[in-house]
Amino acid sequence: MTERSRVAAEFDLIERIRRRAAVRDDVVLGIGDDAAIVQVPAGKQLVIAADTLNRGIHFPENTAPADIGWKALAVNLSDLAAMGAEPAWCTLSLSLPAGDMEWVDAFLDGFLELATRHRIALIGGDTTRGPLSVSVTVHGFVAPGRALRRGGACVGDDVWVTGTLGEAAAALLQWRGGAVVDPALRARLDRPTPRVAVGMRLGAVAHACIDISDGLLVDLQHICVASEVGGEVELESLPASPQLIAAFDTQRRLAAQATGGDDYELCFTAPPAMRYAVEDIAIETRTPITRIGRIVAGRGVRALSADGSEWTAPTAGFVHFA
Ligand code: ADP
Ligand code: MG
Repeated sequence: MTERSRVAAEFDLIERIRRRAAVRDDVVLGIGDDAAIVQVPAGKQLVIAADTLNRGIHFPENTAPADIGWKALAVNLSDLAAMGAEPAWCTLSLSLPAGDMEWVDAFLDGFLELATRHRIALIGGDTTRGPLSVSVTVHGFVAPGRALRRGGACVGDDVWVTGTLGEAAAALLQWRGGAVVDPALRARLDRPTPRVAVGMRLGAVAHACIDISDGLLVDLQHICVASEVGGEVELESLPASPQLIAAFDTQRRLAAQATGGDDYELCFTAPPAMRYAVEDIAIETRTPITRIGRIVAGRGVRALSADGSEWTAPTAGFVHFA
């Protein structure tokens, strides 16, 4: 392909993206100029997060383009959720091996389906040629000082988690092992559910929050380090889906739930006085929320078996370059 046709293809792709992207009233200038212009509502703070997905590292090689689109936005919305922010705008930087319009259209099917659900507007980005990589930046709003951070956990807090844990990791294990992958598990790997509605309601309830991307114990450890406290998790209380229970024996299931990555559930701490408030949020948002442990004095996170003995994970959480 000549340099000239490559550039033309890039313009075509951007024009296609522009035509399919929805707008919002607070977007003064969207896709098409050198930069976007947005109107931040008076009295709000802007919360910004960015996450990249690389082929073979963040999604299996056989992932459908629509699922890559969904996941690229979902992992970013999950970061906004973990901060308690309301999604507003996003940008999309695409590195593509070829200017394949069909691929981009399928990618946008997944990306824009999730964007529409959360009323987040695509306002810009970048399109280049290179190995397949998708980089998204999201912007959202919080009331001043109301963002949920990792550093607020207090001794005596309950530890809670949304949804169920371990299915994405289980799907990845099945796929890597060459086994038949349960479609329900695979769906949790390919199309995580960002817990935006829960996050937005936790501002007044939770002391600290994180989204689980690298594994429950590792991510809870981030809360504990930032808060200078310790944590205890009761393994038997970890929520599991029927599909996970059916697919794995108990030890492998617990390992997937406690240390598997890619859940994109929220883990948060809240004082026991907030138990009813948390249960109300679960009902209002139709999201299971389970109490799994507590914040204690000291350092480190301990996982406890049913008999109270400490459980050691067969593998640690997923760490890049480890
Ligand atoms: P420039 O060369 O000035 O950076 P580009 O040609 O890269 O301009 O982009 C033109 C417009 O298209 C900009 O508004 C940019 O934000 C938008 N854009 C480019 N790629 C994407 C993409 N993948 N998704 C959304 N908007 C994009
Ligand atoms: Mg550019």
